[in-house]
Amino acid sequence: MGTIMDIITARDPFEKEFHQAVTEVVESVKPVLDKNPEYRHAGIMERIVEPERVIQFRVPWVNDQGKVQINRGFRIQMSSAIGPYKGGLRFHPSVNLSILKFLAFEQVFKNALTTLPIGGGKGGSDFDPKGKSDFEVMRFCQSFMSELYRHIGSVTDVPAGDIGVGGREIGYLFGMYKKLKNEFSGVLTGKSLNWGGSLIRPEATGYGSVFFADEMLSTHNDNLKDKLCLVSGSGNVAQYTTQKINQLGGKVVTLSDSSGYIFDEQGIDKDKLQHLMYLKNVKRGRIKEYVEKYPEAVFTPFDTSAAHNPLWDHKANCAFPSATQNEINKKDAQNLVNNGITTVCEGANMPTTPGGIEVFLDNKILYAPGKAANAGGVAVSGLEMSQNSMRIKWSAQEVEAKLKGIMHSIHSACVAAAEEYGTPGNYVNGANIAGFVKVADSMMDQGIV
Ligand code: NDP
Repeated sequence: MGTIMDIITARDPFEKEFHQAVTEVVESVKPVLDKNPEYRHAGIMERIVEPERVIQFRVPWVNDQGKVQINRGFRIQMSSAIGPYKGGLRFHPSVNLSILKFLAFEQVFKNALTTLPIGGGKGGSDFDPKGKSDFEVMRFCQSFMSELYRHIGSVTDVPAGDIGVGGREIGYLFGMYKKLKNEFSGVLTGKSLNWGGSLIRPEATGYGSVFFADEMLSTHNDNLKDKLCLVSGSGNVAQYTTQKINQLGGKVVTLSDSSGYIFDEQGIDKDKLQHLMYLKNVKRGRIKEYVEKYPEAVFTPFDTSAAHNPLWDHKANCAFPSATQNEINKKDAQNLVNNGITTVCEGANMPTTPGGIEVFLDNKILYAPGKAANAGGVAVSGLEMSQNSMRIKWSAQEVEAKLKGIMHSIHSACVAAAEEYGTPGNYVNGANIAGFVKVADSMMDQGIV
């Protein structure tokens, strides 16, 4: 393990999120490398941690006051071993190379787990869509695409949404791509239903995460009915996680955004969720506005200097972190365990710190890492690509059934890989090993490229 970590820390000493993601995979796959020395001889690990291509570019645009703004755009094309690069675009002020490299690296294994032929990539910008007018967002997206279009395509690299990139942004990005290339193709996923989108794509990540939790519970002859659930975030993933938990008979009592969280002891039921979706998706408001309509709920602002996140202090059976990376630290994890949590299912990417993961594994919590649990989004993106190339459209029932089947396969692959390498019930090892072996074998077949 020393060598790979030495290489990447020497090369890019400040990319701490990337180091965190690589460390976890390197630790999990060590027994695989010991058993298969040919992977070491072929330098598989050394190649897998180095992106095939990194693109960075200037994104100039003009705000509503006529002032020139400059943001930074990125696309990380991490691995095309099993298919065209595929992964979301994130627009958030925290975006930098380290965060996008960690996300692209995770995406490679996640995409391999879906059983679909898609490689891994990620991109985005430090642009913050919050508080911007629709015209500002459009001008930014057009400028961003005026460079990105050179590097993507339906058989090369197919971006999608992520934090800060939803249907509105995908629409503006697609419009500009189409104009520049004079081509209507499946170059982006998460498109609107009228022009090539797939039914169930908006729901897919959240639904998939809940299906995965249900799969884990089923190994203990249990399910989500009557389970008390904590969900963080209030964006795409959090909303549809809440919807599916409600449909399966569970009760969600928390949601958050970057300013704070709400606790609604009575549960965020169908009607309350609908209002929340209006607040976040149409009004583009803040989570604290929820309590204006539902005063029985309590809003607590986040104190960024606090040692722990109070959302995770509440008593519950299941937790679905669905906001951002490193939102559950060791203390949060210990609080959850002390309060009787049995299941943690990551809708977000890498929301739990290494210390937090250790607590969950030591306490035999059913703990699903993001690269397995949130793979439903990219899986349905893969199904959107298939529908685009076949020029057909599947019904919502068909897509949801396929999604459920894929989450079942991912769960089985994780369980089997964890057992084969002597750590039954460890979904971290299971996901890393199952994803890695598929990518490594494909790289072996294709020579040193
Ligand atoms: P959205 O932009 O729709 O929502 C993100 C949510 O997380 C918002 O509520 C946002 O609050 C909150 N948030 C973002 N950054 C922070 C922060 N630094 N601290 C606290 N809260 C924060 O994004 P998604 O729902 O699409 O993505 C959520 C997570 O799921 C991400 O980790 C993403 O990578 C992952 N994911 C998403 C997939 C998808 O299909 N969309 C697929 C797989 C994984 P605020 O509005 O205040 O910024």
